Parts: sequence; C-alpha cells; structure tokens
Amino acid sequence: MILAIATATAPSLITAQDDSAKPQPVPAIQSFDISAIDTSVDPCTDFYQYACGNWLKSNPIPSDQVRWVRSFSLLRERNRYLLWQELDAAAKAPKSPLQKQFGDFYASCMDTATVDKKGFSPIKPAWDKIEGLKDTSQLPSLLSWLENNGISDGFFEFGVAQDDKDSSKQIAEIFQGGISLPDRDYYIVDSARFKTIRGQYLEHMKKMFVLAGDTPEQAEKEAAAVLKIETAMAQASLSRTDLRNPEKRYHIYTVADFDKLAPSFKWETYFKETGIGQFDTLNVGTPDFFKALSGLITSEPLDSWKSYLRWHSMHGQARLLSKPFFDETFDFFSRTLSGQQEPEARWKQCSSMTDRALGEAVGQDWVKQNFPPAAKDSMDKLVAALEKSLGDDIKTLPWMTEDTKKAAAEKLAAIRNKIGYPEKWRDYSSVKVDRSDLIGNNQHAAVFERDFNFNKLGKPVDEKEWDMTPPTVNAYYNPSFNDINFPAGILQPPFFDFKIDPAVNFGGIGVVIGHEMTHGFDDQGSQYDGQGNLREWQKPEDRKAFQERTECVANEYSGFESAPAMGDTPAQHLNGHLTLGENTADNGGLRIAYMALLDTLAAQGKTIGEKIDGYTEAQRYFLGFAQVWCQNTKDAAARQAALVDPHSPGKWRVNGSVQNFDEFGKAFNCTQGKPMYPVNSCRVW
Ligand SMILES: [Zn+2]
Repeated sequence: MILAIATATAPSLITAQDDSAKPQPVPAIQSFDISAIDTSVDPCTDFYQYACGNWLKSNPIPSDQVRWVRSFSLLRERNRYLLWQELDAAAKAPKSPLQKQFGDFYASCMDTATVDKKGFSPIKPAWDKIEGLKDTSQLPSLLSWLENNGISDGFFEFGVAQDDKDSSKQIAEIFQGGISLPDRDYYIVDSARFKTIRGQYLEHMKKMFVLAGDTPEQAEKEAAAVLKIETAMAQASLSRTDLRNPEKRYHIYTVADFDKLAPSFKWETYFKETGIGQFDTLNVGTPDFFKALSGLITSEPLDSWKSYLRWHSMHGQARLLSKPFFDETFDFFSRTLSGQQEPEARWKQCSSMTDRALGEAVGQDWVKQNFPPAAKDSMDKLVAALEKSLGDDIKTLPWMTEDTKKAAAEKLAAIRNKIGYPEKWRDYSSVKVDRSDLIGNNQHAAVFERDFNFNKLGKPVDEKEWDMTPPTVNAYYNPSFNDINFPAGILQPPFFDFKIDPAVNFGGIGVVIGHEMTHGFDDQGSQYDGQGNLREWQKPEDRKAFQERTECVANEYSGFESAPAMGDTPAQHLNGHLTLGENTADNGGLRIAYMALLDTLAAQGKTIGEKIDGYTEAQRYFLGFAQVWCQNTKDAAARQAALVDPHSPGKWRVNGSVQNFDEFGKAFNCTQGKPMYPVNSCRVW
C-alpha cells in the first residue's frame, strides 16, 4: 500500500482505428500563469475560481480525456511525448539489447494489422482450459494455471508484502477482489443511476460474449451468471473507507486455519501450484470475503463459474484484442462509466503500455535526457527545508504532549528520501518480447512482475525499490518503508522550476514534498512508527485529540460537493473519511511549505511582502499552489472519483486547504468570516 499525491491514470484502452493523430512536441509547462487568473472573482470567497477561472474557461477537456489538469495532465503529455521519441527511435534502430527489447515491445503494440488479424484467437487457449473444468474442486489448479500464464481470473488478490507489524519481514497476503465495475457500490447501491449502469453492464457483457462466438441466448445466461457472482462478491467486500484502516486489513492465519475459514477452495493446492514457495502463515486481509467466497463456490453451479472465468480472461485482456473487442470495451468502461469521448491516439497508448510493462528499462534513457544531476541536489535542499519546518511545526503544536512530540520528531527524523530514479535498475532480460505478439508480451511482463513479487517471500526487504517509474508525474509515501518518493517525472515545471521565484516553487514541489511527509502523520500513516511497524506511538490523550481534529477535517470535506444535481441524479458529495488522509496531507503540506518559504526568504534577506507581477511573494505562493490543481472534469468521471478516489477534486484540494490556513486570509487581506478565512477552521498538523 502506498499513498500517492494524485490518482494514477487508469490503463488506457487502445483502439486500432486512429493513427491519424501524429505525435506533437509539448513545450515545457509555465510555472506561474497570470493569464489563468479571473480577477472578477473575490479570492476570499472562492480562491480556486480566482486562481484558475480563466484557465478553466479556455481549456476544455480534450476528447480523449475525462479530466484535464493544468499541471498533471499537461506534464504527463509532455513526458509521454519525450518517452515516445525514445521508443520510436528504439523500435526503428535500437542501439543496445535493452533498446531492442523495449523497442520491440512498443512496435508490437503499434502493429494493429497483426493484432486485428489474430482476432479473438489469443484468448482461445484460456477458454479451452476453462471448458475442461469438471468440478469446482479443480478451481485452485485452474486459477494457478491462468495466473502462471499471465491471464486475469478475477477471484481475489494474492501476493507478497511487508508484514504490517514487523516491516523487516515479507509475508504472503490475500485480499478481496473479483469484481469488474469500479467499486462495490456499483453492485449494491439501490439508486436509479446504479440500476441503469448495472443494466448497461449486462448489455456490454452480452455483446462481448457474442463477439467471442457465443449465441445471444448463451451470452444472456452467461452475463447474468457473472453479475450474480460479482454482486455476491461485492456484498462480501469491505468498503474502501474500511480498507484504509490498517487494523481492519490485518488478520494473520495459519494456512490450516485459512482452509477451515474457506474450505471449498483447496488453498494448499493453489499456493503450491502458483510457485510462490513454502509458508505457514499469511495475512488474510479480508476474512469475511473469503468465507463468503467459499460458500459461493458451493452454492453456484459449475457453468456459472465457467462463465465467470470466461468473462474475466476476456475482459482482462480486451484492450489487447482486435478492434471490435476494444471498441466495445471502450464504449462501456470509458465512454459510459467515465465520459471519455474517444480513445487516446495509438502512439500514446503504446508509450504508456511500454512504460507500465518495462518501466525501469525505458526509464534509464529517459532520466539521462530529462533529469540533470543538479536537479537532485536542489531537491535534497528543498526536502531538508521541509523537514526542518515540519519539525518546527511539531514543536509548537498546541494539542500534543511533550512525550508524543518527541516520538513524532523521531519518526520524522527516520523518514528516508528517494529522489528521481532507482540507484539500481531492475533486470528485465528474462522477459521474452516478440515484435509480433502484443498479448504474449503483456502476459510475459505480467508473469515477470508477479514472480518478482513472489520472489520476495521470506527475503530481506529491499529499501531501494521503487513503486513508480521514472517518467511518472506523481509522488508517494510508503508507511511500511517510512519513505517519500519523487520520480523524475514530477521534478519538472510547473512543479519544480528554478528559473522562477522561490514562492512559486514552494507552492508547487514544496507542497508536494510537505504533502508526502504529512502522510506519515495522517489518520492512516500515523498508526505506523518510524520503522514502518503498525504500533501506537502516541499517548492515549494525544490520539484522542488527534482524532477529534481529523474528524473536524472529515466532516468539513463531507460537506463539499464534487458533482451537482442533474435531473433525477442527486448531487454527489465527497466522502470525508475516504479522502481524510489526502486532505490531511494537503493541509499539512500547505502549512509546512509556507514555513519553509519564510525561512528561505529570510536567509536571502527578503520578505514575504515583496511584489512580482503585482502579487506579493505570499500571494504568489498560494497562487502557485492553486494553479497546480486547475482542472476540468467530466461529470461521470467526477461521480466515479467521489466513490473510488481517496483524493479530493482540485477545487477542494485548493479551497479546503486555504480555508484551514489563516496565513491565506492574511495574504489576501480577507475579512475574517469570509468563506476562505473562516473564524473557526480545522487543523491537524
Ligand atoms: Zn497523497
């Protein structure tokens, strides 16, 4: 589990239809955009609208996107273009074995003629194997066979992770899974909107089964069987909000006891045949789910399980199949569910796919081109400045006892920083890549990834490992490592720009760094100690005061609307508890980056009141921060995000954070009592 600053972009769906969109260079993104500001809005009433208003008007969402963010989306497009240049060159004339490997991978994705010619045939071996299922007692062997061949089967998530209570150990863990829609609510909430979506999902499954060669009658029966099983799985699943609570995800079982909990599935057979290796105990993240799954295996007929597996093996790879399959999949999962009008151009799809599959191979050349060594030194200094200000903040917290302040300072001192890219690159030489086998390449990459994970069982932890690839525009905190990670992809303008005044830089990358550090102390991260172990280090009275403060933030954000009422569909509010960790990190990040800016200006003999372009340094800091989050979003995507995304939408990341920080009201000379400068506000850190 890692905590990222922004939502990862969902794997895009490829289409064979459109090669017309040729790659275009994307210039560097402007760090501070005075023309984005809408001066007709009162910044004390709606700061987001003030900082972003003109940008929002003149930047509609491109037809191949569901969300368009001034910083993240533009920089992602730029980084991907730079990556494409490298992939395209490697595909045409590779200069090393590594370039040959990722060049061929990229080329196999661009070769739509071969993909189309193969049609549904790449899925046939899996379907034949599923057809041979004689009895549900053979499910463990069948599932391990599918996974050993890189084919999705639904059911559940199984792998190796650090033990929450002893971060030096790597243990097996198993979690709920098995559904295809974005969240369990889509199956179980009784509303007009979700009923409509469930009907559309059934229609989509029917069409896919017919495309694969089933009769319409057969397809109808199969779709109904899949929906019934997935609905039962959804009902037995923990909510995303509950899953954020580490104690609710931690249940150590012996393999023998796990067998007793869910006896209809021979776990020992499954574990053995996946090749993970020997273990006696594992973390069963969601026991109720496995109890229910066991009952379901007994109660549902064999044919229903065949339909379920046929569905998952096809759906999981639909984006790698010929045009009719991915067009139909795009139509439901992207157009209907999130409002995307058309797929991204093929070169974009293939660049992202290669980055996902062989990220640390393509990243090596990418950082040479795009991440100068001087950038790392500058980041080291910035991180040190932020560490100091979080330390100062802890010392002056009004609600924390001295003993707990000491413990917090120890945890802060133990945070490790990873900047840019891994010290040691992963070796992909065992991944077989064939220029004319897109689906095979993806299956080999999936098996490589799984085996890399399985191989950690019982071994020492590798603290140098990364969870994001170098060109990624994102950052994360990992509570088990107690480390903060900033890929080279985000260390670019508009986040990180040394051609601009420090205020804008601290509002950009400074707040990102502060956000990640604060994750170590949010409602989730604070349950882990400096060594990454789930262990209480706050005194009971401090934990109580902490919870009162986080509840204030949760209630506040639950009042924010992420999509307005439309016709019969009611307004969608944020889930204050799902987004609590991210909101706490945003609030803390904004405060400590501001303190670090004050220190930096003071060291240069400057003040926060000096003006550039008519704005004081304090004002430029808040504007720089807000302009990271200017974004237009499709209504369907906003509603989906409110259920599944632990991050608040840009408007509330900005307005929620500034209204909880008095220095904002002072910087813009607001009268106290205005929305952005309330008399009472929430504060954790
Ligand atoms: Zn975050």
